[in-house]
Amino acid sequence: MIPIKEPWELTVMRTAGRKLAEVVERVRERVADGVTTRDLDRIAEEAILAAGAKPAFKGYKVGRAVFPATICASVNEQVVHGIPSKRVLRAGDVVSLDFGLVYGGYYADMAYSTCIGEADPDAVRLVAATEEALRRGIAKARVGARIGDIGHAVESFVRPQGFGVVTQMVGHGIGRKMHEPPSVPNYGKQATGDLLRAGMVIAIEPMITLGTDDTKILGDQWTVVTEDNSRSAHFEHTVAITPAGPEVLTLPG
Ligand code: MG
Repeated sequence: MIPIKEPWELTVMRTAGRKLAEVVERVRERVADGVTTRDLDRIAEEAILAAGAKPAFKGYKVGRAVFPATICASVNEQVVHGIPSKRVLRAGDVVSLDFGLVYGGYYADMAYSTCIGEADPDAVRLVAATEEALRRGIAKARVGARIGDIGHAVESFVRPQGFGVVTQMVGHGIGRKMHEPPSVPNYGKQATGDLLRAGMVIAIEPMITLGTDDTKILGDQWTVVTEDNSRSAHFEHTVAITPAGPEVLTLPG
């Protein structure tokens, strides 16, 4: 059963999304050559608490594994769920930062990737294509469309350019929980899957690689990396499906 949000719930989720987008802006201005991913984590945590919200990822459990930080910071071949550390970001790196908060009992989820300093053309192309894939996926999040339309929009844009699509990780519904139905894959067939209705809220999050689709999880039980060590990018927005079209909730005010 896919939760349908009441208008008052969407009001709270708009506030949660705006707060998260503003946290991301605070972090974005500090991302640079020489900064550690732990520095970025601290900036994000302080900004989330200052906004009267709580980090969503810190303490998140999968089995016995507990996520120890506020953001996920994934560099180069790391796709998602990288743990912030003393690792220093260097020119040429592709870094993907994933942010989540809970405010008023509702979750918001957002991610973006960027190149540090001067990066090679493949890295620049990867980041730009992943951002555009998200834009195309969002454009399909309309009343009467189906989940497969979103994945198809992402996949049909990136595959012809030679990129891989991560299939082992998917987007998701979001609301009172960070992960709600439905699953939102970054691949699929048009006009298949769950019907999109007004009041659904989903996190759309293409994860695209310079290599194959396959990923594995490192021994830290969190970090997802590409199996072929190719670099990867990740963009995500929390999107409400409304009669007026897709509404991106994770935008700054
Ligand atoms: Mg997500």
